[in-house]
Amino acid sequence: MRLARHQAYSPASLGKAYLRAMGIEEPMRKFGDIAPKIHGIAMAAYYGGRAECRIRRWPVPVVPVDLTSEYPSVDALLGIWDVLTAERITIEDATEDVRALLESVTLDDLFRPAFWKHFNFYARILPEGDILPVRSVYDSKSGTRNIGLNELHWKQPMWVAGPDLIAALLNGHIPNVQEAFRVVPHGKQRGLKPIKLRNAISIDPRREDFFTRVIEYRKQNKADDRLQYFLKILANSTSYGTYLELNPVKIDPSKRPKITVYSGEHIFEQSAPDTIEQPGSFYFPLLGALITSGGRLLLAMIERCVRDAGGTYLCCDTDALIIVASKEGGAVQMPDGVSPIKALSWKEVERITERFDSLSPYNREIVPHLLRLTDENYDENGAQRQLFGLSIAAKRYALYTTKCNQPYCSHSECVTIVDPKAHGLIFFAPSEERENGLPKWWWELWRFLLALEFRQIIEPSFNVLMLGGRAIDSETSTPVDGEPAWIGLPAMMKMRVSTPHYLDQLKGKASPFGFVSHPRTRDKLKLTLLTPFSKDRAGWAHSLCINTHDGGIYRLNELSRADIITLGDVLCGYVQHREIKSLGPDGETCKAHTRGLLRRMTIKGGLQHCIGKEVSRFEQGKDDFIGNIDDVCIHYDGGRVAANETLIAEISGRGLRKTTKETGLDRKTIRAILSGKKVKIATLAKVVIGIQQ
Ligand SMILES: [Zn+2]
Repeated sequence: MRLARHQAYSPASLGKAYLRAMGIEEPMRKFGDIAPKIHGIAMAAYYGGRAECRIRRWPVPVVPVDLTSEYPSVDALLGIWDVLTAERITIEDATEDVRALLESVTLDDLFRPAFWKHFNFYARILPEGDILPVRSVYDSKSGTRNIGLNELHWKQPMWVAGPDLIAALLNGHIPNVQEAFRVVPHGKQRGLKPIKLRNAISIDPRREDFFTRVIEYRKQNKADDRLQYFLKILANSTSYGTYLELNPVKIDPSKRPKITVYSGEHIFEQSAPDTIEQPGSFYFPLLGALITSGGRLLLAMIERCVRDAGGTYLCCDTDALIIVASKEGGAVQMPDGVSPIKALSWKEVERITERFDSLSPYNREIVPHLLRLTDENYDENGAQRQLFGLSIAAKRYALYTTKCNQPYCSHSECVTIVDPKAHGLIFFAPSEERENGLPKWWWELWRFLLALEFRQIIEPSFNVLMLGGRAIDSETSTPVDGEPAWIGLPAMMKMRVSTPHYLDQLKGKASPFGFVSHPRTRDKLKLTLLTPFSKDRAGWAHSLCINTHDGGIYRLNELSRADIITLGDVLCGYVQHREIKSLGPDGETCKAHTRGLLRRMTIKGGLQHCIGKEVSRFEQGKDDFIGNIDDVCIHYDGGRVAANETLIAEISGRGLRKTTKETGLDRKTIRAILSGKKVKIATLAKVVIGIQQ
């Protein structure tokens, strides 16, 4: 089949074009008799992939495993194709049926593919300590909503997709079901017709599971890169994305329409917000929410198998679990005298992956395993090698090998990074160079971060302070070894110009669809700067910028050095990023410096603000061994610094006696600092570290 060039502009449109070519009718139209309330329930029960960090800032031996084409596999298991190609569907009460299922289902049952057909239901439950995905503002400071898998107690009922309830059951608690319904397909719609993919393979939608065929075809044509890419996009978009496609549309405030909200529990009318989401033509959340839920069930099954074997995991992301495991297995030390955890042996991991073979919907000759060890586990000769991992927060981790085969050490040149994950950093581009298909600076960042982490674990008195974008050893005030070359550059986010307004302001210096840079400055300045993107990194510090709020022109080096966020600050923030969905090993809120095995939260009631008020950096107590002192000092040339008003106020508030006691400095030095005299960085560092502890 052919797509006109202008039509093939997004993965979603590609997927939809193929669904249409097979004659599949748009589900909202075809199943138009399904009550809007049912779609509201599905949206309320919808969550994306699960990503979390379980062991924080502590190096452990690992074996990462992942699911082969997770969503196409789930589609096949749940029978999604039968629903999509059905003539009609009905929503049938399944309350008693689901209660009986939850009472009797065992882990073994979940490994029987036929059993999965029972999971395409939605249930209204009263959460009484079930481990369920919870969408909430865990961090009131950033206000971002996060999805965490936590123990939920709530007096109000909520709707949950079937596979999520089964997953909750794996954690040992039988959910209290008040009501449930099942999605039942009937017959095959008329007009379905076979298609040929890239004129090579034919798929008959009446007889075959489209998703399974696409994946098998992909595995059979590994050598053809372009075909691989095409099939990957086709599989991703048709296996779940298309059914959840919502496109934001800005509303004209003068013609704000009334919208009807179906929350799952209630139906009410309200004025439309500034932006509404327009559903895509194959939007059908009843399927979308079930599919992602099925993905979380597979992940929960892997987790349960690991736990049953006595093990745990470093972190997980959607279709992958990074299991704590070593060749022979055994105890792995944890920080702060907490009892050791067990690393599974490679054999034990293999037994777990083999167990999932029974669930594979694919031809074994083409796709041998549903759950497999990721490619990183093998060296260039194809032999399994020992990997280690360190995770900071969800999606922020690195896998590496060491020559000495220890998770951490003080040897130089011992660590080789294998997989650096740099979530949230993709817009920074301190260099264009790439290494093994990823930005070169991600590798450099992790090499440096791991060296700092290892050193701090070995030498707890080691402290690093970021000052004017340089990493300084607080004892010696000298730069820390191995500092990446880009660390002092201003943090500039590279982005495309799309708004004509900005183009106007940039006075012809940037072209439409060209790149601009957004240098980050401290929030208190309330500036949003833009400058045309330049490859001359050395000149970044002198960029001529426009403030998009008022059109004012600024030269970056005319701002105070402390007000410009550098890549050193970004790195510092990256390593301090808290895993806010979990608690530390001590049962307290996860902090920047928290190390070790995290715990799940118990969420009771309204769950809107789990973490309290904003506190000043000093009230928080010791933040981390990597700190930033730019916001408490004035930086002079020649490497000397003076306390700024914030720090002087902090010291005055504590008094001379308390400050001398906390910092180990004498009264004379503290008085000098209080009067704003220039001192050595190490001296000011003692103050900052001392009063934080
Ligand atoms: Zn070593």
